[in-house]
Amino acid sequence: MPDLHGFQIEEIVAMSSPVVRSRNVFKRNSLRFAAALLLALATLVVDPNAALAASPQHHDQAPGFYRLKVGDLEVTALFDGTGVFDPHWLNGTKATMDGVVKALQEDPHMLDVVDMGFLVNTGKQLILVDAGAGTWWGGGALGRLAGSLRSAGYTPEEVDIVLITHLHSDHVGGLTTQDGKRVFPNADVYVAKAESDFWLSPEIAAKAPKDAQPFFQSAQAIAAPYIQAGKWHTFSGTEPIVDGMQLVPLPGHTPGHTGYEFSSKGQKILFWGDIVHAQRVQLQHPEVTAIFDIDQTAAAATRNQLLPRLARENVLIATPHTSLFPALGRLHKGGEWI
Ligand SMILES: [Zn+2]
Ligand SMILES: [Zn+2]
Repeated sequence: MPDLHGFQIEEIVAMSSPVVRSRNVFKRNSLRFAAALLLALATLVVDPNAALAASPQHHDQAPGFYRLKVGDLEVTALFDGTGVFDPHWLNGTKATMDGVVKALQEDPHMLDVVDMGFLVNTGKQLILVDAGAGTWWGGGALGRLAGSLRSAGYTPEEVDIVLITHLHSDHVGGLTTQDGKRVFPNADVYVAKAESDFWLSPEIAAKAPKDAQPFFQSAQAIAAPYIQAGKWHTFSGTEPIVDGMQLVPLPGHTPGHTGYEFSSKGQKILFWGDIVHAQRVQLQHPEVTAIFDIDQTAAAATRNQLLPRLARENVLIATPHTSLFPALGRLHKGGEWI
């Protein structure tokens, strides 16, 4: 998007990223050189006259993780998979949406999204914020979070607490297998009461439109084994669950949509759930909503209030649906927005 009257996000770029746009030209060139050298040597050894076969293109991404410190906290971004956000899932003015269509023609990857979960090791507890999609969403393109967690040196059994931003299956599907087993058998799961009451209510589900039914069914199936084990906990106020963490109610996307803000040594990180689905549209146009936002007006109002505060306080943001792994960044005010 050409104009910069909204917010820009300064992304943390990881060399190991599967969706990365490397800014390190020197390193990239060195890698290219090394690859070319290896290729030349291989050709020489096998058959100096052999023609090189064309390599097929690949479209999948590697699972992975990215680790950083926030004060004393160790935060690990865990890759769950990638998808593409359909522009028809956005609601904006005609002028804004025409701009999106035009920008997509120039950059077809503009609405690519990752799905992420995040791990916080406080030194005392291992806390997972959102669990990815598992096998409940994404048609096989998602569900790599547990593998990424193992790659990062942890096991699902070690997770003490899971904090859930909301009960959409791309955030909680990774909690439970299709046959009803807990993926994190020792974890206590926390979710806002308003969220739990909404998605787990048979009465509300019965009245919901047909195309919303799968969201209710999967939320109920995913929660069931944790409820049965006494591991499903709800909160309705701002009572602390973990030392150094504050609950940040962010209603609109879903009724109990909640962010979790951790502080350590003057540094802050906010796990903000689905505040943004199309980062390159909604940071400049916070009034643009997604069709998945249950209360569109509240979702836009929440975003309008939140973004200036995060820019002012220089809060690190963990955003499950940015376009670039590892889905961490800060907001800068650019223009008249505050
Ligand atoms: Zn959502
Ligand atoms: Zn989501």
